[in-house]
Amino acid sequence: MAKQRAKLVVGNWKMHGRLADNKVLLQAVSQGAGSLPEAVGVGVCVPCPYLAQAQVLLNGSRVAWGVQDVSAHEQGAFTGEVAAEMAVEFGASYAIVGHSERRAYHLESAELVATKTLRALEAGLTPIVCVGETLEQREAGETESVIGMQIDAVLTKLSPDQALRIVIAYEPVWAIGTGKTATAEQAQAVHAFLRARLAAKSEAAAAGVVLLYGGSVKPDNAEQLFRQQDIDGGLIGGASLKHIDFLAICQAAVAANAVR
Ligand code: PEP
Repeated sequence: MAKQRAKLVVGNWKMHGRLADNKVLLQAVSQGAGSLPEAVGVGVCVPCPYLAQAQVLLNGSRVAWGVQDVSAHEQGAFTGEVAAEMAVEFGASYAIVGHSERRAYHLESAELVATKTLRALEAGLTPIVCVGETLEQREAGETESVIGMQIDAVLTKLSPDQALRIVIAYEPVWAIGTGKTATAEQAQAVHAFLRARLAAKSEAAAAGVVLLYGGSVKPDNAEQLFRQQDIDGGLIGGASLKHIDFLAICQAAVAANAVR
C-alpha cells in the first residue's frame, strides 16, 4: 500500500500585509488551525519584515511560518538579500524557492533555484521548491520537459537524504492569481510525473516527499484537488489573505485526507 503522506497547506502572502491587518489574520488562522488534526500541517510564508510578528503571534500554535525566498549566499556583501540563517533566527520553518514570480521578474535560473534550495536545507529550513510551466509551454506540449528540467536541476544538487527533506509545489504559471485552476486530472498528471522523477533519485523520496498544488486554489476547488493520489496539499496565494478562505482550504485537506 502507498505510504500515506501528511497533508500540508501553506499560505504565500506575497508582498501583502500591514502590521495591524497581519495581527488579525494571524490570530484568526492560529485559532482556527488549533482544532485541525495533526495529520494536516499548516504554514504561512510572510514578507521578511513580518517574520518577528509571525513568530510572536504563532509561537506555540499549530501554524508554522516561513519566508518567500532566501539568498543563495550564507552572508556577505549582498545588499537587499536575506540569508536563510536569518529566517531561522526568527523561528522560520519554510522557505519558498523558485516561485514563478521570482523566475520571471528576477530572472532566477533553475541553477540558482537549486543553489537556494541547498542553502535553505543547510540552514535547517524546509524548502518549498516551486515548478511550473507557462500557458505557451503547455500548449506546445512542453509541460513535462520544462518541469523535468526545473526539478532535475534541484535534485542533481541534493543527496538522497536531502531530497527527502524538500517539499515541491507544482504551480502552473497560467493558474497563479488568474482564477484559472488546473483540473484535478491535469494537476494529478504532473504530480505523478514529479513523483516518477523523484523515484529516479530515491524510492524513499518518491514515497515521502510532499507535493503541493498551487494556482488559484479556493475553498470550492481545494478538496477535489487534494483528493488526488499524488497531491498532498496546497500552496495558497490570494486565498491565504482571508482567514475564512484559508481555514476552509485547511478543512478541505482534512476532508481529502479522510477519503484518500
Ligand atoms: C502563489 O502565488 O503561490 C499562488 C498559488 O497564488 P494564487 O493562489 O493566488 O493563484
